[in-house]
Amino acid sequence: MTDLLSRLGLSDVNNGAFCDGAMTTTGRIVESFNPATGEAIASVRLANLADYETIITKAQESFLKWRMVPAPKRGEIVRQIGEALREHKDDLGRLESIEVGKVLSEGLGEVQESIDMADLCVGMSRQLSGLTMHSERPQHRMYEQWHPMGVVGIITAFNFPNAVWAWNALVALVAGDTMIWKPSLKAPLTAIATHLICDKVMQENGFGGVMSLIIGDDVDVGSAMVDDRRIPLISATGSCRMGRIVGARVAQRLGRCLLELGGNNAIIVHKDADFDLAVRGVAFGAVGTAGQRCTSTRRLFVHSDIVESFTEKLVAAYDSIEAGDPLAEGTLLGPLIDEDAVKTYEAAIAKVKAQGGEILSGGERIDRPGFYVRPTVVRVRGDLPVANEETFAPILYVFEYTELADAIARQNSVDQGLSSAIFTDSFRAAEGFLAHNGSDCGIANVNIGTSGAEIGGAFGGEKDTGGGREAGSDSWKAYMRRQTCTLNWSPDLPLAQGVTFDI
Ligand code: NAD
Repeated sequence: MTDLLSRLGLSDVNNGAFCDGAMTTTGRIVESFNPATGEAIASVRLANLADYETIITKAQESFLKWRMVPAPKRGEIVRQIGEALREHKDDLGRLESIEVGKVLSEGLGEVQESIDMADLCVGMSRQLSGLTMHSERPQHRMYEQWHPMGVVGIITAFNFPNAVWAWNALVALVAGDTMIWKPSLKAPLTAIATHLICDKVMQENGFGGVMSLIIGDDVDVGSAMVDDRRIPLISATGSCRMGRIVGARVAQRLGRCLLELGGNNAIIVHKDADFDLAVRGVAFGAVGTAGQRCTSTRRLFVHSDIVESFTEKLVAAYDSIEAGDPLAEGTLLGPLIDEDAVKTYEAAIAKVKAQGGEILSGGERIDRPGFYVRPTVVRVRGDLPVANEETFAPILYVFEYTELADAIARQNSVDQGLSSAIFTDSFRAAEGFLAHNGSDCGIANVNIGTSGAEIGGAFGGEKDTGGGREAGSDSWKAYMRRQTCTLNWSPDLPLAQGVTFDI
């Protein structure tokens, strides 16, 4: 472990602030724990408000220089960041597995996602293009251009401690913004290691201070960022609870907010679905990452013709899944993040029982060190209010339906609107699911589960999920300011809409 930490530039006690190099912090010490064992890995001394002030000042100064670098040149530096991440992929992925309990292929997969983001952003840096439009006035030209915006505040959740940062940071970099990253206190070591790898590239190119990292409490450092008018965009990923607070406060100062919040994602298994495909898709969506993805499958709607046989097969698959060391080859189920997460799981199971749900598999803590719980399948007949909540744990609620329109309506009936899927071989069912009156989610898949999105598309969801879009497609627009320009090359000064003002 010590070797791994030192290869990533970490020590037993780390400072919690970095801006053009490490800063000396003096706040309280928090430990980061390995959720598979409950043992401490290393600790971080938190940053305080004075550190925040130093960082925001430097981020503003750096912006003045960074925004003048041509976007394709910024893209070239992001290419180098991608290379640096490739070089450290194994160590970083392993650290992530140790710190958040993801099985190793997922830890490595997450770093790969950041590398993919870097590749995408290199191309994006040459495509930050605006539209031109025809002016109604003679000899006038109108067009839109996109400018860098300023300092971006990036707040991230514990469960994707590397890739969610990359979705934001690498796009913000090519957009010409500088940034302050405030990661979750549950995964601070992955954040420091990620920052050190990437900021080294920035420093080598003469742009230290463009990226900075601050690890501090929400009540001081988090609040300061959210309320700070010097930060035109806060991009916050986490629970709906957090989004309601952060969104309201940023709106209060008329800042811009990009929210990526919780999900309560469903899969519909239609009567003509490919059975094996659907079982695998549901099992990965519901059990993968121990149910700790924003896109984890939490609800299942199965057609009444197949509900008994499908559920039987699914339960058999669940019963074959063993919990294990996330680093060991073949492990499919790792731990939850901490003791609080286990308590939240147990509280949800208690509600299931009290509300009349039938537990077909799982429903209890696993008796071993760390924070392991059994993946759980609950058969629902009638109403089960707890199924409307996002419990960040592997609990799957199975409902039965007869009419597809009814299944879609029930899928859409929850507050969140992140990810959704249907398994079907019917063209009509698939298109109906994707139609205007189909799924209301930001992500809608056919014959693929709810989790495991690729970075090429815009990622995010509707309703209480917050409406933000990150990663690919045109999500870069959120990180830039749009300017509409009208140029008059005529000898006259005609006014729009036929207005006259002759003096
Ligand atoms: P969380 O809401 O507890 O914390 C997320 C981040 O917000 C942390 O960095 C936390 O310190 C910060 N935060 C919380 N309150 C704050 C405040 N008042 N001011 C400033 N910062 C504040 O979430 P979590 O437990 O880390 O992550 C799990 C949640 O995140 C789930 O709901 C999951 O669905 C969601 N999530 C969403 C996405 C997405 O893209 N939609 C991705 C990952 C996770």
